[in-house]
Amino acid sequence: MAKKKKGKAKERKGKKPKRKKPAYKISAVYEVTGDTLKRKNKSCPKCGVGVFMASHKDRWTCGKCGYTEKK
Ligand SMILES: [Zn+2]
Repeated sequence: MAKKKKGKAKERKGKKPKRKKPAYKISAVYEVTGDTLKRKNKSCPKCGVGVFMASHKDRWTCGKCGYTEKK
């Protein structure tokens, strides 16, 4: 019979309080020019306006549907 180790899973060193991470930094996505807001990121053609695509080195990728577009 294999013995189960007790207590190891419970006691973890370096407990960190959980923090809510924002989905993305709004200031990084929008650019304020005068009185108007300008979007920096592309929006997904499949998902529509509001779903932004992540910019990679050589491509744009939608995290929702997986649509990829080459730069
Ligand atoms: Zn999409």
